[in-house]
Amino acid sequence: MIAINIDDGFSTSAVLADLAILEREHVNATWFPIGHVVASAPHTWRTVAAAGFPIANHTYDHAILTKYTYAQVLADIEKDNAVVSKVIGEALVPFVRPNGGSWNGTILAAAAAAGERAVVLWDATTGDTAPLPGRTNVDLLVRNATKGTDGSIILMHANLPYTQQALPTIIAYYRERGFTFVTLGQMFGVPGPVPFPPGVATLSPASSPTPPPALAPTPSPGIGAACSG
Ligand SMILES: [Zn+2]
Repeated sequence: MIAINIDDGFSTSAVLADLAILEREHVNATWFPIGHVVASAPHTWRTVAAAGFPIANHTYDHAILTKYTYAQVLADIEKDNAVVSKVIGEALVPFVRPNGGSWNGTILAAAAAAGERAVVLWDATTGDTAPLPGRTNVDLLVRNATKGTDGSIILMHANLPYTQQALPTIIAYYRERGFTFVTLGQMFGVPGPVPFPPGVATLSPASSPTPPPALAPTPSPGIGAACSG
């Protein structure tokens, strides 16, 4: 299993371009848009939700939560859930990702109090927010994102245009090795939307890219920290 996560969403064109690739390739993925971004582009996010994709909590303010008090973290997560669920017309899936992956015990406790099932990080990323020129190097994005293994969470961002250039190759890489793309809900056994349920045939692209080098053995991923309770 591989779980693709797409974060942020500042560019609505990038969101829709990523969505088109996922739909064309029949790839399950989970979106973590920033709350205030969803509020400013409601039609785009209704489109993502209507396509059957799960939407999770990436906080409303996109602040570094380790600088917040417990009350501030809780208020921000709850505001995101309230605003985004009103926009998309359904509940978010109960996962939260803090900006930058910064977390501590206060954040875990506040997330649990907000009803989240887990604070979810990642163990592989395209690196599409790395300093220039790295984030513009599509081959590098692909190499970074293909370091995953069974159970990996692959982080990328809805940024133009390099993520869209890398994504089809990343998808093909894992498909050729027998991986299945799942939502976080499928990975963690939590109910929620699944755009392409198991048992529905998925077709490989007609023309597959040259396979990259074999996966280097990597330690099993440390995917985030579960909230207690
Ligand atoms: Zn973010």
